[in-house]
Amino acid sequence: MQRLAETCEAIAGTTKKLEKIAIVADYFISRTAEEAAISAVFLSGRPFPMYQETTLQVGGSLLWQVVQEFSEKSEEQLADSYRKHGDLGAVAGEVLPHHQSSPALSVSEAEKTFGEIAAARGPAKKAALLRGLLARATPLEAKYLVKIMTGDLRIGLKESLVEEAIAKAYGATVTEVQRANMLLGNIRETVLLAAAGKLVEAKMRLFHPIGFMLASPAESAEEALSYFASAAVEDKYDGIRAQAHCSGDEVRIFSRTRDDITESFPELPDVLSGLDKDAILDGEIVAWSYSEGNPNEPGRALPFSALQQRLGRKKVSQELMRQVPVAYLVFDVLYAGGELLLDHGLRERSAILNGLLKTARKYMKARSKESQGQLGFTSEEDPSTAQVIRAPVFEAHSSDELEQLFTAAQERGNEGLMIKDLNSRYTPGRRGKSWLKMKRELATLDVVVTAVEYGHGKRIGVLSDYTFAVWDRDRLVNVGKAYSGLTDAEIAEMTQWFLEHTLADQGFRREVEPKIVLEVAFNNVMKSDRHNGGYALRFPRIVRLRPDKPPKEADTIERVLEIYESQNRARRKSQ
Ligand code: AMP
Repeated sequence: MQRLAETCEAIAGTTKKLEKIAIVADYFISRTAEEAAISAVFLSGRPFPMYQETTLQVGGSLLWQVVQEFSEKSEEQLADSYRKHGDLGAVAGEVLPHHQSSPALSVSEAEKTFGEIAAARGPAKKAALLRGLLARATPLEAKYLVKIMTGDLRIGLKESLVEEAIAKAYGATVTEVQRANMLLGNIRETVLLAAAGKLVEAKMRLFHPIGFMLASPAESAEEALSYFASAAVEDKYDGIRAQAHCSGDEVRIFSRTRDDITESFPELPDVLSGLDKDAILDGEIVAWSYSEGNPNEPGRALPFSALQQRLGRKKVSQELMRQVPVAYLVFDVLYAGGELLLDHGLRERSAILNGLLKTARKYMKARSKESQGQLGFTSEEDPSTAQVIRAPVFEAHSSDELEQLFTAAQERGNEGLMIKDLNSRYTPGRRGKSWLKMKRELATLDVVVTAVEYGHGKRIGVLSDYTFAVWDRDRLVNVGKAYSGLTDAEIAEMTQWFLEHTLADQGFRREVEPKIVLEVAFNNVMKSDRHNGGYALRFPRIVRLRPDKPPKEADTIERVLEIYESQNRARRKSQ
């Protein structure tokens, strides 16, 4: 463990990526495969491989308490050290007494103890094991043991760099290592295969998320069709991206941030368990309006705002499932029946997906009917059983056809179109030109800035967040807040102006003279009580400053209402 801790210090000592990779690779070579495999997990900043169910369940306060006991320092002294470092691992390295344990602590013993801590029930048992571990550690080892336990090494090393180091150490290509690690979802096992020269033998393992393929924006229909010859066109649904792993009755759903969100959608696993093969599906979960009275009509997707209430919940009541039903619109398949499909073209994946859902469809209907009682639906309340739906695919060969599909998608209440190269592979985690997204701004509004706030990150010292308003007769009412769209130079100039034209200084926020007019674009209008206008623009972006426009000529709340209603009309029309 001492060698690993020294290696971590060396990694922290350089900002150069290539040097970091070389240090890790040298360390791997000098160790046995087993030690290197365990260390790869620790170097990724975790006590256990990612997506392993095991967690330490050791809170910061327990760690703090044990570090304090060993240090023989007062709470005050420890707090001082913490303020200096902002990291409990670094504190442990500074305050723990020097001693050399014999025999020296190994990475295998550290791994074993982490396992025992995870399995131990209750803080007293966990604390005893933790004491045992730290008692044997040198201060430098303790520093990194604590950092690993808190899940943040802070040495500028990501798992992707560890992958590169594995490739360098064992003479494999980075692509081979990345692929094996993606399939296994376990860097420990990836090292063992790499060391044995058997990376090609890595087999897909379900229930850990694979990176999502991403899309690039296309500004126009012409541009969209300029990249490839044959395009599959789908509606762009306004929900959340979801990757479903299905194996018989076991189903897990992962979000774009790779979180397990299965619990938020308890109605979906039941339907997805109807697939007759193991599979990984890619799609969008949306709030769904089931068309009443006509079980043959599939219904339609609702805007994101409707889905919001369903997100981030651990427990979803039957009441909520009834109020906000969801559907999973599946548009891709990454794995089916033992075969990884990433390298197949979209045309082929699409055919496989159709087959998969078709054979399952009957079963799915039966299953979800069966489960209706369980979920609290009666068939009158939930006429549709199509909770898992193959996202319809269209074809477009000319920009005119694409324009028509775009209008139709918006009339169905969807955001726009996704245009996909039928010959493209599925590239996890990459934003390329094989998938394009086409959205059009609903409209733009000219608004008046009424208040400003200091920004975050590199905008910390400038007033870059603008609350803006429209006219309600002769009163300005706020309808949104925008952060992006202006250049740094414009923001600097505006900051100066706002400082000189502040009406009320509330510290982080300033009410300012309502003289600056902006043109803002947005995705849609929502009813909201966050702003005093009663409406809020969703995802507003500043298009430009409008110094040419006097504030009195800015838009009105009537115009906002008009846009809100036309948006709803378009949706109703498609019902
Ligand atoms: P954006 O979030 O604007 O970058 O657009 C990309 C997102 O659109 C994806 O991550 C999906 O969540 C979503 N999306 C909606 N419909 C589709 C579709 N048919 N194909 C792919 N992505 C879609």
